[in-house]
Amino acid sequence: MAEKILLVEDEPALQDTLLYNLQKQGYEVEAVGDGLLALEAARRMQPDLLILDIMLPRMDGVEVCKTLRRENFTSPVIMLTARDDEIDRVVGLEVGADDYLTKPFSMRELMARVKAQLRRTQLIRAELDKIKTSEPATPQLLTFGNLSVNITRREVSLNDSPIPLKPQEYDLLLFFAEHKGQMLSREFILERVWGWDYIGDSRTVDVHVRWLRQKIEIDPGNPVRIVTVRGGGYRFEG
Ligand code: CA
Repeated sequence: MAEKILLVEDEPALQDTLLYNLQKQGYEVEAVGDGLLALEAARRMQPDLLILDIMLPRMDGVEVCKTLRRENFTSPVIMLTARDDEIDRVVGLEVGADDYLTKPFSMRELMARVKAQLRRTQLIRAELDKIKTSEPATPQLLTFGNLSVNITRREVSLNDSPIPLKPQEYDLLLFFAEHKGQMLSREFILERVWGWDYIGDSRTVDVHVRWLRQKIEIDPGNPVRIVTVRGGGYRFEG
């Protein structure tokens, strides 16, 4: 589908020339000659690009651009200016244009800018699409007998039924699961799961281990999954 461009220029001869050349490139172009019509057309057609002259009847290009940006118009805006000293303000944050051309400019230069801006929009849209569809098709799953940890969904199941875990319990279980068979000291667990880089109260770990055992052990009093290691820590057996 052709990309839509709204062209706002009040000099008839220049408007005609720009319109002709843009259409020749295959763009779908609508042209208007004053600021208020520009606002109305931009809202209605939601163009992929706006080419906007600054000096316009009824409302100038700077006001048009500011107004549209306030309405969350996100398409690129190329400003046409007759004066070099306007450029800083126009492309700055205050007005929100993306690029500018100082009159007189060559048609080749305008086309290059138009292409560059539209290409940039396409790249941003492709990135956004990628983020939207980036959830992996198969969840990342760690399985230990009848116990499974779904990392994608932060869900733990026992015999295929989900068991409710508090966020800290989940983090602790995941840490154990990722270090299966290793002796983990209370201090190390505190540092890695709770993010404490000082020797905190290591009873916190004991309390959470007790809660976890009640949820995932057959006999929490005689644990076989999270076993206590003499001399100061725990080991996850799976
Ligand atoms: Ca003008």
